[in-house]
Amino acid sequence: MPIHEKSLIRPENITSHDELVIEGVDVSGHWSTFIETRVISDYNEEMEQEIAALPGGEHIHRCWQCGSCTNSCTVHAIEPRFNPRYWIYLIRTGMESELLRDKDIIWQCVSCNKCTYACPRDVVPEGVMKATAHWLEMKGHVPESPSMTFDKIFTEQIVEHGRIEDTKVLMQFMKRTNQPLMQDWLKQIVMNIGMRLPVKWGLRSAWNFVFHPRVSGWKKAGAALEDYINEVEQHHKSALGDNKSKVATDNAGQRQLRAAE
Ligand code: SF4
Ligand code: SF4
Repeated sequence: MPIHEKSLIRPENITSHDELVIEGVDVSGHWSTFIETRVISDYNEEMEQEIAALPGGEHIHRCWQCGSCTNSCTVHAIEPRFNPRYWIYLIRTGMESELLRDKDIIWQCVSCNKCTYACPRDVVPEGVMKATAHWLEMKGHVPESPSMTFDKIFTEQIVEHGRIEDTKVLMQFMKRTNQPLMQDWLKQIVMNIGMRLPVKWGLRSAWNFVFHPRVSGWKKAGAALEDYINEVEQHHKSALGDNKSKVATDNAGQRQLRAAE
């Protein structure tokens, strides 16, 4: 029987012999390929609900495993292990430990949405990939991604001031991701663009950087926005069962970091 989707079988589970004769029959090479039986006992029966509770994962239950998403996927074409159909299958069947084996590539979705247009069931696989990457972070299976750090800094400034200050966003991002501020690409941008900008713009930027003025009348709007964000975060956390404490600890850590900045 041919092996379909051989990439889904872990190399350590495939055994073959260069030279093997069984009962006088030469079965050397690929004729002697054996696949070890896979035994999974640690199911997470809540996994589908957990991911469905996050933005983008809402329609995962509609999937009927046709594979159109994987066939059309930009990343799958160059990285066969990137397989949205397979991951949706693992999530729906609660095979968490199997999914975690691919935790370092799931974030690689480039949001091209080819899968979204190919899907006959409106699952929005792109959204499911984002929700899964978010879930991995919230459960503490992977460290916070730089894009998540950036989103948090951006949101904090909006909530506090009603607007962002570009240079401040950049500085806080570099600091929280432990990167030096003076990067070659940044120097290049400053050299190419910075010198051509009007002096007035530079002075206003410096003023905004130091004082970071708040949008007029923003205080109430910011408070309402923060309430809404907290409500949504609480909803997401409530879907995570035993790992609530991990998320709570992370959020407390972020608040301390903000206070120190
Ligand atoms: S959005 Fe992501 S999962 Fe969908 S086709 Fe593009 S790379 Fe693949
Ligand atoms: S295209 Fe849609 S229905 Fe088909 S496997 Fe992908 S997510 Fe499931």
